[in-house]
Amino acid sequence: MGANALIEDIRADVVILGGGITGLWLLAHLRARGYAAVLCEARALGAGQTLCSQGIIHGGLKYALGGALSEASRALTHMPARWRDCLEGARTPDLRGARLLSAHQYLVSGWRLAGFLASRMLQGRVNRVDSGQVPEPFAAALGPSARGGVYQLDEPVVDVRSVLAVLGHAHADALLAVDADGTRLLQDAGDVTGLEVRDREGRRLRIRGGHVVLCAGAGNEGLGRMIPSGAAPMQRRPLCMVMLRGALPELYAHWLGTSAAPRVTVTSHRDARGTPVWYVGGELAESGVAREPEAQVRRAREELSRLVPGVDLASCAGAVLSVDRAEGRHASGQRPDGPVLARAGAVTQVWPTKLAFAPLVAEQVEARLSLGGMRPGRCPMPSTQGWPRPALAPLPWDEARAWC
Ligand SMILES: Cc1cc2nc3c(=O)[nH]c(=O)nc-3n(C[C@H](O)[C@H](O)[C@H](O)COP(=O)(O)OP(=O)(O)OC[C@H]3O[C@@H](n4cnc5c(N)ncnc54)[C@H](O)[C@@H]3O)c2cc1C
Repeated sequence: MGANALIEDIRADVVILGGGITGLWLLAHLRARGYAAVLCEARALGAGQTLCSQGIIHGGLKYALGGALSEASRALTHMPARWRDCLEGARTPDLRGARLLSAHQYLVSGWRLAGFLASRMLQGRVNRVDSGQVPEPFAAALGPSARGGVYQLDEPVVDVRSVLAVLGHAHADALLAVDADGTRLLQDAGDVTGLEVRDREGRRLRIRGGHVVLCAGAGNEGLGRMIPSGAAPMQRRPLCMVMLRGALPELYAHWLGTSAAPRVTVTSHRDARGTPVWYVGGELAESGVAREPEAQVRRAREELSRLVPGVDLASCAGAVLSVDRAEGRHASGQRPDGPVLARAGAVTQVWPTKLAFAPLVAEQVEARLSLGGMRPGRCPMPSTQGWPRPALAPLPWDEARAWC
């Protein structure tokens, strides 16, 4: 087949651009309901924000710490149960092959959360842990002089790469590896009628009749410029995450500082060789964008040495990951309260705001398709045999080169 040859014209109900958590979950959701859907990925599955995330399935508690139940907190309430059902195979998508890293995230606070805990809305979602009951290895890490209360939050932590692997494997026949520069919307008299994509060898594929859903994270900005009636605006909020690698205990915890937002959030992972890695976010990662990488690693070590004096951090290697959160623009420039969906004719742009919202986003997209008159079963699942499939992206700590 020569370069730029048109190899095929296919029909689909929905074409998804972007194979992060949003695109893959949506693909699984729509196919389970009988829609003929395909997904095009320009780099590798999870290559955007998804594999940079900490994998915490927030239940909204983090956003209720100011004392008021924000819209974000309310919207997230049902997400932990929703994900757990999928991890147990009780709901679609079936995520039984994915790994749960921890059933809970802990919260350590120097100030009293009594009023917060009394809220009826939060009952059953956060429990104070008596000092003698803090589980190991967390208790040893906190040391005997730990100050403040420890709370157990109903926030599971998932191994995000294993979630993508399960979804990608189940829907491999609907995944297309495409060249980012070779995508264009097909139009007829100003109306979008489908999408043309190109693979890395220059072969072209036209996907007609489908509603196009942009789930490309930061890539939505460039893709949005193709929308004839104009795109919804996007915002980026940068983070400088810290990775610490060495003989570290398995911890999943937020530490509150002086404000209601966690100062430090730690999740625990393993690199490809099996060495433990702490992935450190929170306010530290927000303010860290102004620091040099070595200074940011040093700051993380200093803060964590005070918070977990029982852990030897001196012998750990450290590295940083600079990454933007890509979101639908909020007037304040702050995090939107929930997913942002913007529909323009046959194209919908989606930013989930949180990985945890993936199930809700899939339902919202389906509801909009339905409102627009789309029904499953209109066309059979097209064959994409012979088209290259996207690989699964590596994790940040397996890609990082500059350890100090
Ligand atoms: C450091 C960090 C930690 C986080 N931690 C959490 C957390 O613990 N819990 C939580 O709920 N949320 C968390 N989030 C937020 C969460 O990661 C994101 O909201 C979510 O992953 C976004 O997923 P997505 O699939 O929409 O986008 P992305 O993950 O960015 O995926 C977009 C995909 O589109 C592809 N793409 C880009 N351009 C094109 C194109 N032109 N054509 C085709 N494909 C394209 C990319 O290669 C990528 O695979 C975190 C975010 C960051 C940055």
